[in-house]
Amino acid sequence: MRFEKLVKPGDLELAGQILKDDPYSVILGGYTFLRISDKKYSTAIDLSDLSLDYIKDNKTQIEIGSYTTLREIETSSTINRYWGNLLPRSLENLVGIQFRNNATIGGAICCRLGFSEIITALLVLDCELVFKEIGTVSLLDYISNRNIKHDILKKIILQKREGKSSYQAMRNSSTDLPILSVAVSDFDKISIAVGARPAIAGLSEKASRLINSDRSKIAETAELIAEEFNFGNDLRSSSEYRKKIASVLVKHALTEVLS
Ligand SMILES: Cc1cc2nc3c(=O)[nH]c(=O)nc-3n(C[C@H](O)[C@H](O)[C@H](O)COP(=O)(O)OP(=O)(O)OC[C@H]3O[C@@H](n4cnc5c(N)ncnc54)[C@H](O)[C@@H]3O)c2cc1C
Repeated sequence: MRFEKLVKPGDLELAGQILKDDPYSVILGGYTFLRISDKKYSTAIDLSDLSLDYIKDNKTQIEIGSYTTLREIETSSTINRYWGNLLPRSLENLVGIQFRNNATIGGAICCRLGFSEIITALLVLDCELVFKEIGTVSLLDYISNRNIKHDILKKIILQKREGKSSYQAMRNSSTDLPILSVAVSDFDKISIAVGARPAIAGLSEKASRLINSDRSKIAETAELIAEEFNFGNDLRSSSEYRKKIASVLVKHALTEVLS
């Protein structure tokens, strides 16, 4: 990636104005993904002076500033208190600790990458995103609607819920990209997300309906997942292999959550 000018605004209004005025500007998170692209931009907007690095424990919600690093989330006792190891497990194989000390949650979400593990995990939590211009949008709407762009993600909001959750992923070798990821939560009902297919994560409807109607039907639900989603080929895996792995991972996750 190349840019002509780097700016470091001291307040969000100014950052938003620069972004609005310059269609060829780009927001910098931790700059881990952007740096491997060959795109050219006029202005790079550094968000590091906007105090968007925080994890706040409010009455019913946890708020995470968009400039919070993945490592801070992975090691946060607040996050761990409410969702156990769901989020840490979705991050622990992402390259290495130094990488996760740079990469931000804002960048991880706004990349909308098919293999994004944090998106798979966040989909089974009540997760909303708060943008400067468009305001609040659910994570599911954001990843389904590619028209939402050129706006600054300020924070993500997670509703505190009682219950269990599980994250499972398969990769060919440790720290490589996942070839499949699965997250399951059981709050008032069971939710199942499947990602890295290699398309971006999606929430199950049919298989979730089945397991919510009869919690003993773990094996049948795991089979149904393979039918419900489309799986693709890439250099890491065939679609057939992904399909089989999806059933296995959903079975593991449901067993963990329902045990
Ligand atoms: C080598 C490599 C291996 C990886 N392996 C994995 C893996 O195994 N699993 C996995 O899940 N992910 C993986 N990733 C993806 C990784 O999670 C992302 O690169 C990283 O999280 C991006 O965060 P960042 O802060 O560096 O974003 P940046 O690179 O700074 O930005 C990424 C995008 O987000 C936008 N953006 C950043 N912050 C904001 C904001 N606040 N508001 C609006 N837009 C914003 C930028 O403009 C840019 O378009 C890998 C990436 C790389 C480069």
